[in-house]
Amino acid sequence: MARGAQRSHALGATSDAPDASAAMAAALRALPSVEEARLALEAHRVRVGAPPLAHPAVIRAIRATLQAARAEIRAGGAAPTTEALIERAQVAIARQSQPNLRPVINATGVIINTNLGRAPLSQRAIAQMTAVARGYSNLEFDLEAGARGSRHAHVRAALRELTGAEDALAVNNNAAATLIALEALAAGREVIIARGELVEIGGGFRVPDVMAQSGARLVEVGTTNRVRLADYAAAITPETALILVVHPSNFRIVGFTEAPALADLTALAHERGLPLMHDLGSGAAPLTERFGLGHEPTIAESVRAGADLVCFSGDKLLGGPQAGLLVGTRATIARIEQRPLMRAVRIDKLTLAALEATLRAYTDESWAEELPVWRAIALSRGRIAERAERLARRLLEAGVAAEVIAGESTVGGGSLPGETLPTALCALPARGSSHATRVDAAGLADALRRGEPPIIARVLRDQTLLDLRTVAPEEEEALYAGIVAAWRAVAHQE
Ligand SMILES: *Cc1c(COP(=O)(O)O)cnc(C)c1O
Repeated sequence: MARGAQRSHALGATSDAPDASAAMAAALRALPSVEEARLALEAHRVRVGAPPLAHPAVIRAIRATLQAARAEIRAGGAAPTTEALIERAQVAIARQSQPNLRPVINATGVIINTNLGRAPLSQRAIAQMTAVARGYSNLEFDLEAGARGSRHAHVRAALRELTGAEDALAVNNNAAATLIALEALAAGREVIIARGELVEIGGGFRVPDVMAQSGARLVEVGTTNRVRLADYAAAITPETALILVVHPSNFRIVGFTEAPALADLTALAHERGLPLMHDLGSGAAPLTERFGLGHEPTIAESVRAGADLVCFSGDKLLGGPQAGLLVGTRATIARIEQRPLMRAVRIDKLTLAALEATLRAYTDESWAEELPVWRAIALSRGRIAERAERLARRLLEAGVAAEVIAGESTVGGGSLPGETLPTALCALPARGSSHATRVDAAGLADALRRGEPPIIARVLRDQTLLDLRTVAPEEEEALYAGIVAAWRAVAHQE
């Protein structure tokens, strides 16, 4: 590095334009060829005892390194030495061999964060998934009968027990569950839904679009904020196949609102010989009030209210892997299970293993400790504050201006909109510290995100905020080290 810098300095000593471009051309010529660089790199790796690499990986890394060096020279930079090029190629190789999809530390305090992979899995789910991944399994083989079995059999009983429904199915995700249910129950016919429930969940999932895709025709009733039982009753025709209720999971309409009770709506549907489907979205199994939150409708409540079909996600409040769960009457589930589309939306064996383990957690008293989503929800502000204070103290000792401030975590994942959990945040730089006006919070968050492991934080005005509610205790050491490294990188640029 140092030699390269010197050399370019000497070459660029004159400010004369033709000489400068001649110097640039000379610097470009001085770069090794791909083959020279490859030989130098391989010789270096032999010297340090590094394992041999596949040829294409080496060539790719060298080409990228040389290309970057050329761009640097053209921008007026120094020509790197061969040693520096080898070092950079090594870094490029290391980066190439790192998986694209990899763990990050979620310090946002948003527990069910769709962009960060939603629910972390329980130890039991991870163990069961690993066991099934390693070899063969009885995925579709009935060990009692010695004959072909159904993959759904593995979660049927647990879903029935958890929700009180007669029967159950698991598919790829809740979007798939909604699609196949509408296709099975209402293709070519009408589905009645309240106007205020024609929601967009995010990631392009819009209820009217899914309905169109399924071949069902949408019949809107009521207004954005109010819908009455009579509105539904008046919309029923011989063309009606289904009444659909969608839980407006990610927003809340407050004020002058009205909607019939689910039990009244199911009574109306059944009186007219129609099924009712409830898309619950998050679908809590336990009562959220027990954790100081508002009421999120539970799956069992919908089943008790008489819904023929209830669908919900596996990786929201259930706390498991990505999946779509359908629970309901035996006849409704049977109609869905027979559809050819079932094959296109079927759940895979690894997900099924994790899902079964997640469902089993609910049969134990200790489910709230076992499932990471609920462990995070149940954490008290006091407990988080203790951890944040300890982290801030260690950071201060390392020269990082940290302080602990009060804040709020959210459940996220389209559940409990507007509800927050009180938390304690580790905030950088501390207000009133000598760094307060000099360290840029957005720059610090960038550096944290680019670290290894990447740390995802929140930025509010002039501070980077870290919420330990979503950081597992075993991640705290990596979090500490990552903050110190990012802080030093940013503080040095001041
Ligand atoms: C999240 C959600 C969905 C989509 O579920 P995925 O599992 O993400 O496919 C559908 N409906 C509602 C009401 C939701 O909240």
